[in-house]
Amino acid sequence: MAKAEVSLEHLFRVFTKPEHDDSTLAKIERHLSDNVSDFLSQHVVTKKTSLEEIEQDFSSARVPDSPEFVSSHAEALLDKLVAHSVNTYAPTFIGHMTSALPYFHLPLSKLMVGLNQNLVKIETSKAFTPLERQTLGMMHNLIYQREDDFYADYLHSAEHSLGAFCSGGTVANITALWVARNLLLGPQDGFKGVAKTGLVAAYKHFNIENLGIMSSRRGHYSLGKTVDVLGIGRDNMLSIESPKQILSPEKALAAGKAYQERGNKLLAIVGIAGTTETGHVDPLDELAEVAKELGCWFHVDAAWGGATLFSDTYRSKLKGIEDADSATIDAHKQMYVPMGAGMALFKDPAASNSVRHHAQYILRQGSKDLGATTLEGSRNGMAMMVYSSFHILGRRGYELLIDNAIEKAQLFADMISQHPCFELTTSPVLSLLTYRLRPEALHDLPDLSQSEIQTLNHQLDELTVSIQKRQREAGRSFVSRTRIELEQYNNESVTVFRVVLANPLTTVEDLSSILEEQLALAQDHPVWLALTQFKQVKIA
Ligand SMILES: *Cc1c(COP(=O)(O)O)cnc(C)c1O
Repeated sequence: MAKAEVSLEHLFRVFTKPEHDDSTLAKIERHLSDNVSDFLSQHVVTKKTSLEEIEQDFSSARVPDSPEFVSSHAEALLDKLVAHSVNTYAPTFIGHMTSALPYFHLPLSKLMVGLNQNLVKIETSKAFTPLERQTLGMMHNLIYQREDDFYADYLHSAEHSLGAFCSGGTVANITALWVARNLLLGPQDGFKGVAKTGLVAAYKHFNIENLGIMSSRRGHYSLGKTVDVLGIGRDNMLSIESPKQILSPEKALAAGKAYQERGNKLLAIVGIAGTTETGHVDPLDELAEVAKELGCWFHVDAAWGGATLFSDTYRSKLKGIEDADSATIDAHKQMYVPMGAGMALFKDPAASNSVRHHAQYILRQGSKDLGATTLEGSRNGMAMMVYSSFHILGRRGYELLIDNAIEKAQLFADMISQHPCFELTTSPVLSLLTYRLRPEALHDLPDLSQSEIQTLNHQLDELTVSIQKRQREAGRSFVSRTRIELEQYNNESVTVFRVVLANPLTTVEDLSSILEEQLALAQDHPVWLALTQFKQVKIA
């Protein structure tokens, strides 16, 4: 390890002097500007497969005593970090919502990192603040489609905000429901509002036992964190059974009324536009009506599915989202922006005043500091990456990407359905689907008893888990897995493969090779061997 001298002169050079020519850092830069995916494919030849082995490289808890040359440190990063990173750019990496990025993010993000603006207040961000407000306005417009006058009034108003930019969907959901909580338990009749008094006094004033949030069983786990952080408690997260993968408006209404009759107040119904596990979209328009009838807030968690709004062809799948009081959209999912870009949008530009905070040295009364209504304090200029994507790809570019992903998912679903050895467990509503291996012998069996179906499902679960792990370890492709209740199996939970088609470079050949690989991996699995003979056994 090349140690550098410990001197202020050396440290000043670290701040000011770019390294030149043949330094490792310069080489990394050159490689990266050519193509990240080439760069990754050169380096992702992971030899160490177990996490424990990798942990050996990160085992010391001491801050290194002496400075190191930047170039020599860069070598170490290549060796220890990059070589064992996950290649999310691979077209066969189709298991998660994280995927390849368009190349322009790399050079542009250098501007963002280099300028090091802090969006919490104007004094450290100037032009970035209006840019972020405009970006939020564009997303607001995508959802709520208000007239130009509306945006002229509110886009840059110090007393309003059309949304809150944050690090991701989790913080966006917390922010939206925090705003909702403070509005619902806001100041009235001499009561100073929950923000000031806390929940105990608020429950007393409103004469309620508890405050609750409702979503389908498929609600993202960030909602569990939300009820926890907001102080209303995880017992008050009403997760409604959803064998069809969506929140039924009838069940929502009945459960909401029952909850209220027990002396509780319902804070919000959360409709999901693109569930994490199966990609289903709740009936948002009907749920908005239910929320109105129950007198609660309506939030739409469109963290993943929100980008569908770019598509004229498919935007109607999210109909009713314009009735939401608030909505969450992650730009780092289907909008192909680097990690760390989430947004909460508010129908009413005054809503977020319920969480407005003032301080003496910043966020002064009447200032346009974004930090006054965001949960996070210091924040980077990530909105620039969303802004740039809007310009470089355009609404129509996004539309093409979304349409392509949805249509590819439909195609993949057809491939799976027509394959004798696979079962499509949930059809894609957007670009996410689930399926599993199922031997041909199990098709058109005579009626099986409940317990026979259960036994079969347990065996298939074991098979799915094993194949998913082995495929991941082989490193050519990646499909994730989850457990979901399925109507067709009496609402029993089964383990399934989960696929998110995000990378536009994923081809039909890639998809077909993934199925082939899974089938090949199954051939010597005891469950597969046993089930392939199932029919004969059954008949005998
Ligand atoms: C991803 C996701 C979240 C959480 O977003 P993060 O950006 O991971 O914090 C919440 N809800 C849904 C539906 C999601 O898909």
